[in-house]
Amino acid sequence: MLSQKFIVDAMLGRVARWLRIMGYDTLYSNKFEDWKILKIAESQNRIIITRDRGLYRRSIKRGLKCILLNADSDIVHSLAYIAYKSKIDLSVNIDATRCAICNSLLKKVSENRWVCPKCKKEYWKGKHWKTIEEVIIKANSELIKLEEKNASRGASANPRIKQGNRSIINRDS
Ligand SMILES: [Zn+2]
Repeated sequence: MLSQKFIVDAMLGRVARWLRIMGYDTLYSNKFEDWKILKIAESQNRIIITRDRGLYRRSIKRGLKCILLNADSDIVHSLAYIAYKSKIDLSVNIDATRCAICNSLLKKVSENRWVCPKCKKEYWKGKHWKTIEEVIIKANSELIKLEEKNASRGASANPRIKQGNRSIINRDS
């Protein structure tokens, strides 16, 4: 489900790039101030992602959705936690991916090449693609651990655990 939209706090540019690669509409600027993040999240119905406890508290007070990341969590654990909280799927389908730089939807220009219509950056499935798939696979196994932990605490079981083999990656079709 690609309908969830995000706004990512400064210092979390890497998280923003990964969300875009997975196809999620994600705003990011290291110049966003807190008041602006809150305003955009409210008017555009975006989930805030931050490491700042102050911003987290202000978001919750206003009734906004906000995900607070640990200061020391790496990209795998960050993505797993974001998916756990927002119920997004962690998968990559290059035909639905967004430009990591500017968030625009990519345009396919040939069999193995995509281009950003806005900033003109080119994308192709090179060696890096395997690395991307590996991170997604690791993040999914962390996500399953989080869901299992939650289920064993007696909270309402998340239906995703029962699915068994949820598709991890949409490979080339
Ligand atoms: Zn772009």
